[in-house]
Amino acid sequence: MSDLTIFAPLAGWVTPLAQVPDAVFAEKMLGDGIAIDPVGDMLCAPCDATVLTVHEAGHAVTLRSVQGFELICHIGIDTVSLGGKGLVPQVQAGTKVLAGQPLIRFDLDALVRNAPAVVTPIIVADASLYGVEPIACGMVAVGDPLLRVVPLASSTMAVAASGETLVRELAVGLSHGLHARPAARLVEVVRRHEAQVMLLHGERHASGLSAVGLLGLGLGHGATVRVEASGPQASAALAEIVALLSDTTPEDTPADAPEPMRGEGPGLGGVPAAPGLAIGAIHRLNRAAIPVETVAASADEERARLAGALSQVRDALALAAAAGGARGGVMAAHGAMLADPTLSDGAMAGVARGLSAGVAWQEAIAEQVANLMSSGDRRIAERADDLRDLERHVLAALAGLPIEGPSVPAGAILVAEDLLPSQVAALDAAAVAGIALVKGGPTSHAAILAAGMGVPMAVAFGQPLAALEDGRVIVLDADRGLIDPEPDADAQAEVRQTIARRKAEMEAARAAQGPCRTADGVRIEMFANLGSVADAEAAVAEGAEGCGLLRTEFLFLDRATAPTRDEQARDYQAIADALGDRPMIVRLLDVGGDKPAPYMDLPVEENPALGLRGIRVSLADPQLLEDQVGAILSVRQPCRIMAPMVASLSELEAVRAVVERHGRKAEVGVMIETPAAAISADILARKADFFSIGTNDLTQYTLAMDRGNAAVAAGVDGLHPAVLRLIGTTCDGAAEHDTPVGVCGSLAADRLAVPILLGLGVTELSVPPARVAAIKALVGKLDLARCRVVAGQALQLSSAASVRAHITTMLQEIGA
Ligand code: PEP
Ligand code: MG
Repeated sequence: MSDLTIFAPLAGWVTPLAQVPDAVFAEKMLGDGIAIDPVGDMLCAPCDATVLTVHEAGHAVTLRSVQGFELICHIGIDTVSLGGKGLVPQVQAGTKVLAGQPLIRFDLDALVRNAPAVVTPIIVADASLYGVEPIACGMVAVGDPLLRVVPLASSTMAVAASGETLVRELAVGLSHGLHARPAARLVEVVRRHEAQVMLLHGERHASGLSAVGLLGLGLGHGATVRVEASGPQASAALAEIVALLSDTTPEDTPADAPEPMRGEGPGLGGVPAAPGLAIGAIHRLNRAAIPVETVAASADEERARLAGALSQVRDALALAAAAGGARGGVMAAHGAMLADPTLSDGAMAGVARGLSAGVAWQEAIAEQVANLMSSGDRRIAERADDLRDLERHVLAALAGLPIEGPSVPAGAILVAEDLLPSQVAALDAAAVAGIALVKGGPTSHAAILAAGMGVPMAVAFGQPLAALEDGRVIVLDADRGLIDPEPDADAQAEVRQTIARRKAEMEAARAAQGPCRTADGVRIEMFANLGSVADAEAAVAEGAEGCGLLRTEFLFLDRATAPTRDEQARDYQAIADALGDRPMIVRLLDVGGDKPAPYMDLPVEENPALGLRGIRVSLADPQLLEDQVGAILSVRQPCRIMAPMVASLSELEAVRAVVERHGRKAEVGVMIETPAAAISADILARKADFFSIGTNDLTQYTLAMDRGNAAVAAGVDGLHPAVLRLIGTTCDGAAEHDTPVGVCGSLAADRLAVPILLGLGVTELSVPPARVAAIKALVGKLDLARCRVVAGQALQLSSAASVRAHITTMLQEIGA
């Protein structure tokens, strides 16, 4: 990466400057750059730099990078008028900062409520000297490469100072002083004239061509400034500048940016993330609700309070971790972070310095967040979100608030900008009717957790959802990613009936004995995706007939060292025991790409989704593969072994060779997750004992859309006809060798996908435990002959949306 790279100073959505609702930024009056619509609460340094100014309202900083270019970071639009409310600078003029170091903490909720926009421009000052090339789009985390700065051949023509220098001294009339917007206008005035202009205030002076220099003067309302102008048009320039600085009319709020419209028509359009139907009143998540006591009692008392809160949170996390599953994994990871003495020692040191327990905890967290950010490693920086979660947990414990996370009234639909995985994990699944997000991605960890909990969720509704008021009753159709914001009494009654009917069918499916079959008697294996013993127990209780995907990487999420063969053997055996004599497909470790493994030293890659991941990692580390295969084969019940991310027959052969060396028989299958595997399914089927289609990855690789990138979230739909055609190709290739085909990606749990999958030839579905009963009930209503017809029709449609509409009609017709 070049030296002139600027890193994202905020987590959030990258937004072109042209979309910032303020002409000063949108028209690049201050310089070129980019904006970020923030989702976090900290502005960090975008590069190694010296802080030049921190505006007294705390909303903007200017910096000089070590390479010499100057930057303006301006939190939100028109935030100068907040007078510092909700903005806490962490640095002062002169501070030297490293990329990722905190600059300004802000209360996002307060800004959203009180400012016209929170989108935050990051500007490289002086467009005549520097251009920029964006590197990132969509959602970024702090520390992601954002922009490349390109020095230009200077186009500024020096204006010969001729004749006398005109001077005016005046008091600044501007109601908010000389902040970013008027500074940009002043630079514009100077550029339009053949004149040299200098502004002087006390000891400081700045060229009229330097927006950063002008901000650095710190000219508040009423401050005295001396303006000096020379050159042929000095007089005209001076007159305009004086008029600009003396203007006392209250400043306009800039026009709102045009919002990209989604969900036109009667409903709001989003993206399905966890299936299901819900009706309920909107309950908006209030992230800023934890009060912090800032006045310290005696150090002993504060120490005791902090220790009490820490141990309370530790116990709660341990309890949640013990329950296992994806939720347990997240909680265990948080528990491990809390156990790190650096945090508690740092906070206790703060208490010894006279801080209250809450403030000391906040400071300790901020310090560790800054450390993570400055690592320059995106995966490490992502742990900062977990630290922020921990910050909230301990602050809540100190404030005597429940630490289980957001308490949502029973039957409500939770609406938020975005949710952290732990926030989803902390929800009471029985109480929350559904989740709808303004932003978010359909395959995020938050979505996977919601699906596992059986909570319907749809994401990426955009501003139309943000505009709906608390308490309004809405219908959320998470199967199709739609919201009806104004359901009339009839529509409400119909939805309630459908939900009640599906629930009754699920209960019947749970209670039903005997194997899963279609209405016309065709056997379909109904398996579950597992990540823990708790998952296995839940799956059996839901009526699962086996495990179609054991995500072995989930078992060792929070490990600092690689699990030994014996540890693995113990865990696999425990899961097999929970399944009884039901079959179990164990997937070989699937790390790399979007699945970091803290205990492995995987390289940071330019293009991780196309890099060292899945089976490639195991083949690159023979001992790793050897240990895992050995552990799987040691399980008393026979297990099937499945290789992830296969692209070529040789990878399957390599795994089979390892299995054979152990001298035990086991079925070996491959996941069909790459277009290469789907297209050459007939070749793979010669040697594979079974196939299982990983539709999550198959979708991202077929559509060339990153499954974790919110900017393309709306397009990442496995019902795209191109993905369905590859599933069809896989089934056809498998049929040539009688190789059974299952699906373990999210499509298997999607009601609208099931008829197509069965129609194309899939005979096994593996879904999250919470979806087993619902999908089993649905299969029981389907007729395979009809499924074949609709599958053939779906392959001829042109979009995922038309496929969804087509199958919705079909299911309505059969009363499913
Ligand atoms: C898939 O890609 O569909 C799959 C099941 O694997 P994972 O989601 O774990 O990558
Ligand atoms: Mg996958």
